[in-house]
Amino acid sequence: MRLEAFSILWYQRQLCLFALRLYIVLFFALVAQAVRMAPQGMTDVFFIEAHHTDTREVMARKLEALWHKSGLASRFAPKDLTALKLHVGEPGTKTFISPSIAGALVDCLQSSGCTVFLTDTAVLYRSPRDNAIGHIKVAMEHGFGLTQVGAPFFPADGLRGDHGIDVAVDGKHHKKVSIAAGILEARSLLVLSHATGHLGTGFGGALKNLGMGCATKKGKLQQHHGQQPHVNEQACTCCGVCEKWCPSEAISVGTTAVIDAEKCIGCGECVAVCRDNAIAYDWGIMGKELQERIVEHAAAVVRHHRSTMACVTAAIQITKDCDCLGVSQKGLVPDIGILASTDPVALDQAVHDLICERAGRTLESMSYPSHDGTVQMRYAQELGLGSQSYTLVPLTMR
Ligand code: SF4
Ligand code: SF4
Repeated sequence: MRLEAFSILWYQRQLCLFALRLYIVLFFALVAQAVRMAPQGMTDVFFIEAHHTDTREVMARKLEALWHKSGLASRFAPKDLTALKLHVGEPGTKTFISPSIAGALVDCLQSSGCTVFLTDTAVLYRSPRDNAIGHIKVAMEHGFGLTQVGAPFFPADGLRGDHGIDVAVDGKHHKKVSIAAGILEARSLLVLSHATGHLGTGFGGALKNLGMGCATKKGKLQQHHGQQPHVNEQACTCCGVCEKWCPSEAISVGTTAVIDAEKCIGCGECVAVCRDNAIAYDWGIMGKELQERIVEHAAAVVRHHRSTMACVTAAIQITKDCDCLGVSQKGLVPDIGILASTDPVALDQAVHDLICERAGRTLESMSYPSHDGTVQMRYAQELGLGSQSYTLVPLTMR
């Protein structure tokens, strides 16, 4: 009897010890998961009020104050070949970033001893900006030339938008992504973005500029992969505008517009130009997936330039669509100002929050309500590109 009782006690003790070990293992696994998912600490995002009506001199003083007080200069060193990544605006648009902002930032970088070039990449759709020569001409016409801002415009992806470097990212959608060679070959990178709404994401800022804006044509195609719009035949007035704009000759208009799925590259130009709202995407998962694909491309650039990159975003003339749309647009929100940070995730989150605070509603609700534009920030944080938690530091001019 005594031996039996001893055996039962022994087994009970072993069971308790096993349960305790299991509990400890599970506890530490949960802690590790929580640490991985948690924001990576607070980042400073610096902010100065600014308006599109500010004179060149006033804008220059504001950016000088932002540059010196934010400490962005620490990311740049003398003799760096520095890429200032921006969007020079599609012909026809009037609300692209002002050359006075780019010029002031060129001055700041040059005061740090950098050799600066302005840069962007070729677009997928039919445009003068779909090759380097046309892109340079548009840049000069919009005020982004050597004599106008003090640095030359030099496309980062070569003559035809195919000069890229494949970078391993091991993401959910891409194992490797194609990034413009000039972006990666530059010693340092200043990302100048314009906060706007966006057809495919609802919100566009630094992450979109890094992901879509720094990709080669191949990279852009990979991001748009699998997204094709459809035509609402009842709404189509057969005007033929979409047929003229389609870069892939994928649309024919007879008794209605018809999209050839074999030829369509999913660029979304037809959706943007149709004034009768007769073409639409079936967003939902696709809008979320597009943002994730953009972020995986951004990851290649951010990881490469982790300590040699800074970001500036102009929350000025915030329009429904981005600067790729070659039409005149009105601002959706009164001008807010210019924000800067070394963290593109914190910067996008701060811009998104400020717009919401000033307008009383999100930018997506005013641009494309079917999108949640914060998907990109959450996914970027998950990939370790930055933190959604930030401290906003308002600045004033000296
Ligand atoms: S632009 Fe719109 S209305 Fe005009 S043909 Fe295309 S789908 Fe139809
Ligand atoms: S059909 Fe529309 S989305 Fe497809 S390639 Fe033409 S413009 Fe782009």
